[in-house]
Amino acid sequence: MLSVNQTSETVRYFVRIILVYHENKEAKIMKICGLQKTTLLDFPGHVAATIFLGGCNFRCPFCHNSGLLGNDAEEAMTEDSLFTFLKRRTSVLEGVCITGGEPTLSDDLEEFIRRIRQMGYLIKLDTNGYRPAVLKDLAGKGLLDYIAMDIKAGRENYPRTAGIPGIQIKYIEESAAFLMNGSIPYEFRTTVVKELHGNRDFLDIGQWLKGCSHYYLQNYVDSGEVLCTGFTSCTKEELLAFAEILHPYIADVSLRGIDY
Ligand code: SF4
Repeated sequence: MLSVNQTSETVRYFVRIILVYHENKEAKIMKICGLQKTTLLDFPGHVAATIFLGGCNFRCPFCHNSGLLGNDAEEAMTEDSLFTFLKRRTSVLEGVCITGGEPTLSDDLEEFIRRIRQMGYLIKLDTNGYRPAVLKDLAGKGLLDYIAMDIKAGRENYPRTAGIPGIQIKYIEESAAFLMNGSIPYEFRTTVVKELHGNRDFLDIGQWLKGCSHYYLQNYVDSGEVLCTGFTSCTKEELLAFAEILHPYIADVSLRGIDY
């Protein structure tokens, strides 16, 4: 049975989902909520900067960027200051990662990417895959060089792990199929949370994404800004066991967030 504290936390969580989900149903004005000036990890093979855009149409309870999700997400810098920074760094950086939040919600994303590409940068886009039309449009216009798409869980477990009770899995499937059948380098990745994921998830993911190029299991980390508390990371052995379930279907499975 849930304690009083757990019950109130659960109620608060669902109220927050309903309120903020309705805020984010439509595309919105872009808000730059964070900038990591240099990263060697986010964009495989490239030195990059990472831009965090505000707003998301999911409410993954384990989200570690909870401050970025709603319309009240705080703007960290203007577009002008971001472009001044990027202009100065063209000799050092090769790429720009655009993450969130969910970047495909921003209705001026295409123009934003075009301006960055004009400076000579490669673009990596992080997405939850729920807006396949935007993904296809940007990819079709040759604006993306690498795409990282979240796979939140096995398909049956998506409502719980994405925090959207009525989620339409067909959009996620459409984005995943688009990446697998396309020519843009991509990765799928799942943040694995001990309390939310089990063998059934990875059996479904393996069968669903059979033959995909790169798949990463990322261990959950409590950043201190997590949307809902009470989750824990997996052990290395637990992650390796999930990887074993995936291996008959996906050749290239790697772990992140674990010391080898
Ligand atoms: S983990 Fe990603 S998709 Fe999920 S709520 Fe956070 S920003 Fe949105």
